[in-house]
Amino acid sequence: MSPREKIFSEIYSKGPITVERYMDLCLYDKEVGYYSSSESIGKLGDFVTSPEISQVFGELLGLWLAETWASQSSRSKFNLVELGPGNGTLMADILRFTRKIKQFSELASVYLVETSKRLKLIQKNHLKKYSINWISSIRDLPALPTFVVANEFLDALPTRQFIRINDEWKERHIDVGPDGNLIFVNLSSSHQRELRFLYGHFPSNRILEICDQATSLITDLANQINLYGGVALLIDYGSYGGFGDTLQAVKNHSFIDPLKKPGTSDLTTHVNFEAIGDTATSKGLRTSKLISQRDFLIALGIMDRVRALERNMSEAEQKIHLSAVARLIDNKSMGQLFKVLAITNRNSNPLPVFEKHD
Ligand code: SAH
Repeated sequence: MSPREKIFSEIYSKGPITVERYMDLCLYDKEVGYYSSSESIGKLGDFVTSPEISQVFGELLGLWLAETWASQSSRSKFNLVELGPGNGTLMADILRFTRKIKQFSELASVYLVETSKRLKLIQKNHLKKYSINWISSIRDLPALPTFVVANEFLDALPTRQFIRINDEWKERHIDVGPDGNLIFVNLSSSHQRELRFLYGHFPSNRILEICDQATSLITDLANQINLYGGVALLIDYGSYGGFGDTLQAVKNHSFIDPLKKPGTSDLTTHVNFEAIGDTATSKGLRTSKLISQRDFLIALGIMDRVRALERNMSEAEQKIHLSAVARLIDNKSMGQLFKVLAITNRNSNPLPVFEKHD
């Protein structure tokens, strides 16, 4: 069965499906979902992520994690965790770079949280030099301080979309239109009271996105960090607050209509970091300010690292290397679109880059 057939058959048998269910089927269905069956990430895939662009990204994240670990913990055993590791490139760069930081690399137990069987195999192959554990939920982590990194993970979580029209809250669904193509339809929501109470201030006729999976994931992370200490570093395409429809599809490195190629294109929404931060704070954690990927990488010394690597490169290699790094930090490229947020224990020491040391 093709992804398209599976979606049509669910709509014909049960009626229109929510945007959340549509994303879930398209991306994560065990048989036909995008992450189970397609070459998704990398130059040969549909989209390229920061670690796939340059090794410097993972190296600097490794440096930040090691610095934060050194400033926070009693230098005891800890969990080093990545959520949604894709091809495993980021963790490979983190582990290679931090090998020099002896205590950090010796005391780390590495955990990858991944749901896709296909990507797990790719990660296993990419990281075969290292001792790695795979788990499917943060709740399966051992009781130890936990240092987490997630790049372009939250934007891949299925999201619900609501809209208030003439004082009635509706949820956006997907149906089969009269011409046999998929279309969006707004159907009255059964959560009128709750939506009115929580989002009464929200403008009419604008889409409100709510990511319940992100909320439950941050809640699990908060429980772990509250109990055992640690930090989570979250990097994604998104903004602080905001509203509107941000559902987008990418195929072969170009944007396409999200309803056009179900199951064979990458579907994402922008991350609402305000909602993420609020969830973490409500569970007793401290949330950093939100900064751009550009500011984060520059503060960590990206230009020094670039110069160090250039020394061993030919002129042609230097050119490629520089343009890759420019993609990560240029304002018109990923530098401003991508944001970085850290969450940690309320009483932990100031976070490198985000918070001032006295
Ligand atoms: N971090 C990668 C790319 C992320 S793509 C990079 O920077 O290159 C999204 C990843 O999240 C995929 O590996 C996908 O299979 C995984 N994923 C999505 N939902 C998940 C969930 N609920 N739990 C664990 N992994 C998930």
